[in-house]
Amino acid sequence: MDFTVARRRMVEQQIAARGITDPRVLSAMLTVPRHLFVGTGLQSHAYSDASLPIGEKQTISQPYMVAVMTAALELKGEERILEVGTGSGYQTAVLSRLVKRVYSVERIPILASRARKVLDQLQMSNINIKVSDGTVGWQDQAPFAGILVAAGSPDVPKNYLQQLDVGGKLVLPVGDQQHQVLTRIIRQEDGTFKREQLMDCRFVPLIGEQGWLSDAVT
Ligand code: SAM
Repeated sequence: MDFTVARRRMVEQQIAARGITDPRVLSAMLTVPRHLFVGTGLQSHAYSDASLPIGEKQTISQPYMVAVMTAALELKGEERILEVGTGSGYQTAVLSRLVKRVYSVERIPILASRARKVLDQLQMSNINIKVSDGTVGWQDQAPFAGILVAAGSPDVPKNYLQQLDVGGKLVLPVGDQQHQVLTRIIRQEDGTFKREQLMDCRFVPLIGEQGWLSDAVT
């Protein structure tokens, strides 16, 4: 399989055709080899229009969703970004191409170490990964110009609002464990927060102190 051709088709047919126009986002997604972030048995599906299993009951996000969330941060290149839910590391790699530094938190150690390995192989050196409960953010490194949360939260964790820089953008799915709304929150100069609903979505649960207690559906 020619992964370069498959990747170009993915960007043209799944992402650009659905209205993502930021040339930097399109270019990052053209260059990050998504097939390296899934198991060898799934590589032939790596550029399909779908999320895929990565083990531990978790998924690599659908490429279009990665593009929507990344574009919603409106990145220019000099930002320091917090990502919650490293998962496979694919979204981390896309962000790495677009900002100065990515701080990524994953609660499942084996996923964090697999992601680290692939990102190191790709020589992406502007990424810090920590195994921890990402619902509390990353206080030592705050404030962030952007926070991207790749798991569904019952509400907006307060720590994210506190760790957002003025003008900073928080993008996260908010809702129950079956259905969420992708939400963008922007910290205004006067200290208030502007909240927008971007689209319906469905993510695995954000589990932690300020998220869900577990992934057992109630
Ligand atoms: N964007 C990732 C990718 O492209 O592979 C997919 C992320 S996956 C949908 C969600 C991830 O969030 C899972 O790996 C899960 O373990 C992680 N997660 C859930 N709750 C978390 C928490 N409180 N802190 C850190 N990671 C968490």
